[in-house]
Formats: sequence, C-alpha cells, structure tokens
Amino acid sequence: LKHIAITGAGLSGRLLALNLLRYSPDDNEVAITLIDKGNEKYMGPAYSADEDFLLLNVPADRMGAYSEDPEHFLKWARKRGLTADKWDFLPRSLYREYILDQFNKTLSNKKRSVNFKHICNEVFDIEFTDRNVKVYLDQNENFIADKVVLALGNFLPGNPEIKNKLALNNKRYIQNPWNPGVFNSLSDNDTVFFIGTGQTMVDLAIILHKRNHKGKITAISRHGYLPMVHKNFEVYDSFYEEIKKFKNVADIFSIIRKHIDNAEKKGIDIRAVIDSLRPVTQNIWLKLPAEEKNKFLRHLFRYWEIIRSRIPPESERIIKELFSSGQLNIIAGKITDFNEKPGSLEVTYIPRGEKNKVLEEAKVIINCCGPESDYKKIVHPLVMNMMKKGLIRPGPANLGIDALPNGSVINRNGDVSDKLFTLGSTMRGVLWEVLAVPEIRVQAEKLAGLFLDDYIEKNMDNL
Ligand SMILES: Cc1cc2nc3c(=O)[nH]c(=O)nc-3n(C[C@H](O)[C@H](O)[C@H](O)COP(=O)(O)OP(=O)(O)OC[C@H]3O[C@@H](n4cnc5c(N)ncnc54)[C@H](O)[C@@H]3O)c2cc1C
Repeated sequence: LKHIAITGAGLSGRLLALNLLRYSPDDNEVAITLIDKGNEKYMGPAYSADEDFLLLNVPADRMGAYSEDPEHFLKWARKRGLTADKWDFLPRSLYREYILDQFNKTLSNKKRSVNFKHICNEVFDIEFTDRNVKVYLDQNENFIADKVVLALGNFLPGNPEIKNKLALNNKRYIQNPWNPGVFNSLSDNDTVFFIGTGQTMVDLAIILHKRNHKGKITAISRHGYLPMVHKNFEVYDSFYEEIKKFKNVADIFSIIRKHIDNAEKKGIDIRAVIDSLRPVTQNIWLKLPAEEKNKFLRHLFRYWEIIRSRIPPESERIIKELFSSGQLNIIAGKITDFNEKPGSLEVTYIPRGEKNKVLEEAKVIINCCGPESDYKKIVHPLVMNMMKKGLIRPGPANLGIDALPNGSVINRNGDVSDKLFTLGSTMRGVLWEVLAVPEIRVQAEKLAGLFLDDYIEKNMDNL
C-alpha cells in the first residue's frame, strides 16, 4: 500500500488528489489523505469569496483543470447554461464549484483499490521515521504516510517595515486582505488605506464600489502602478531560440526590449511579447544563476509583474470610475509609520522622489502586498517546525522552498527527499512561473505521474 498525504486542499492539493484518483492503477492499493485547515469545500483564499462580481483574472478558456483540455472549464460552464465566451472572465466562486464538481465526480468513480480520506485539520509537524513519515495534526493526532506533499499555497502578506511595530497589533490594521469580513466594521464614509496597488487592492476596491462605499480610498505602492488589463491581441511569435543561450538578466532583457520595440513598430501590443515567453519562462528561470535571479528581483520584478499579471476589463472599468471620480487616489511612495489616533490610524509615507513626509488618516489600513513567499519570514507552525529541523530550506532567491523541478524537496544539507514533495507557490524560487492554474495543473499531473510510476507520461518530459 502506498499512502500519500497531501497538506493543503487548495487548487494545487485538490488537482494532485484528483489526478491520483484518476490514474491510480487497479492492481495496486493506494491511500490518499487530503488535509486542510478549512472545511471540506474550502479551496484557499483565491476561490473562497462568494461575490459573483469577483472575477477570475484569467480568461475562461485557459482555466480547465486538465492540461489536455484547457477549455474544459468553459465547456462545463456552457453545459450549465451559461452563455460564456472564450474571452469571458467568469466568477471565482463558479470556478470553485467547477473544481469541487470535478473532484467529486472523480472521487465517485475511483477504483476500489483506492482509499481516499479528507481530514479537516492543521498539519503542525512531520517527522521522518526509517521507512516513512509521521504526520502530526491538532490534538496529538497523528498518522503514518509513505509520502507527504506540501501544497501550502498562499500565506498572508508580510507586514510593512514601520517604526512603530506596536501599531501592527491595532485592530484597524488588517494583515489578511482575503478575510471575507474585512469590511464588516466599516461605515459608508470611512477612509480606507490600501498598502499595495496590485490585484488584491483591485478586488477590495471593487468590493467597496459594489457596497456603494462613499469614503476616500487611498492605495500606495513603490511605483504606484496598477496591473495591466487583459486584451485580446494578436499573438507575437516566440523568440525563445534567441534567448535560450543566455544566462544573464541583462542580455535576456535587451532581447526582450528589442522585441518590444519591434512589436510597437508593427502595432502589436507589448503584452503579446511577454505572453510569448509564458510557455518557456520556467526554462529561462531554471538556467539563471542565483545572482541573476536576485538581480531580476531587485531591478525588474515590479515591471514584469505589472505586464504579466492582469485584471479583467470589467475590473479595470470600475477602477477607472473610482479614480476619475476622485474617490480612489493612487500614490507612488513608501510607508514609514502608522500612529494610533482616537478612532483611526495615521499613516506616514514619503512620496516617490520626494523627501518630505505626508500624514494621512484612515479608519482601516489593509495589507494588499501579495502573499509572503520568503519562508524564513513565514509565521506558520508547520513551516517553522520543518525549517527548524532542516527538513526544508529556502528556495532560490529566498522564494518558496528548495526542490528539484519535479517537486522533490531538498533539505538543509542538500539531500533530495524521496518522501517529501511540493507543488504550487512553494516552487516559486525553483520554477518562478508557478502560481496560476495553467502551471499548477501541469505540476499536479507531473507529480501524480511521478508517484504512480509513469501513469501520466504525456506531461513528464521537458523539465
Ligand atoms: C485572491 C486571489 C485570486 C486569484 N485568482 C486567480 C485566477 O483567477 N486565476 C489563476 O490562475 N490564479 C489565481 N490566483 C493564483 C492562485 O494562487 C492559484 O490559482 C491557486 O489558487 C493556488 O492554489 P494553492 O493550492 O497552491 O494555494 P492555496 O489556494 O493558498 O491553498 C493552500 C491550502 O493549504 C492549506 N494549508 C496550508 N498550510 C496547512 C497546514 N499546515 N495544514 C493544513 N492545511 C494547510 C490552506 O488552508 C489552503 O487551503 C489567485 C490568487 C489569489 C490569492
């Protein structure tokens, strides 16, 4: 009997379990245990909101659960009577329903040799024994598995570096932007201050708009850039052949720059140039030496993210409306402090390129900086316990955890584990392009294939 324990039932953990259920052989007993802190339907922060105006940020025809059929989600939605187009951005709550539906269907068709269990609990620690792994849950419960998969996903954003650290405990500072009750205590005219101007800020500003919020909204980030909008543009031909011999960021970016200029001359959108790199981004990243990865993060990451991660046109429309009415103010600058005032918090920031501090009062400050991916900073019992024991170490450029491209975890001494595996955002440092559905579904299929000895051969080459 092979027993595979998957920690985390977000998209990564569920797709891995789904593929294991789907491809497990008839003649071999397999036990799969899926464990998550949330309830049986919880699927991580990305798909937990119920509001149907919170849309996927990837077009419907790319969100299928199976890499052999990227349009599967779109077809599923149409079968349910939705008149959806390839280029539509459907609600995230519908996507949750889709994944749960696929999962439940696969589960009800599972082979008799497969044993599946879903545990709603937190994994606090793991311990390697001679032959297998002991998994510790709450209340001193534990069980033995042959392999443990870390599908830990999105952690809360890291706190801003401010002088008055005590203010981080103030109830008006909200570290978790995905908490469904994030605006519960807010009155219509209250001022809201967002740290971050990316996709999370866009989501929350849209929620405020839908609530008819009247108060002032401020959002700050180093450069004050908003994510670009999705557009259905002409495809730009791949130029990977030109890039692939280079292992340094400067040369690679001068080639990309050349193609951006070329695209602009031809009237092709620059987003098409970046999109042409998506299928090979993991290969480019894998070849970069550590120092070059760090250089990319220091100098180019922010610009890359703005072009790479996009919002649906409808989300952009609402943001533009909030902006042009003067309700939303976007600032390029750096927060230096919060100070407690009666009934509010006072934010201190320095606008980009200026020296003088600006003070602004807000009823709430919400951290929208995106999930923390530096595992040395993550406050999470399982991560801290594994770090302490040296079972995991930070990944390249301190992003995620170290592993082989196939997800086999590498410990503090550099040994590759045959018991501990990972997928999803933990692989950020190793593969870089790993956070969205099109990449997660491939990782899940490959890892299932690895466990089930070549059952899913089609996707196991390349890396
Ligand atoms: C708000 C938001 C919107 C997004 N929208 C899109 C989109 O439209 N399209 C797209 O392609 N991508 C989107 N993404 C990217 C998203 O990260 C992935 O699509 C995907 O949801 C990640 O799934 P995951 O399972 O890796 O992580 P998560 O969804 O974070 O799931 C991890 C799970 O692990 C559990 N867990 C962690 N530690 C433990 C433990 N010790 N014990 C038990 N359980 C544990 C958590 O409870 C959680 O349920 C979005 C991300 C966010 C944050």
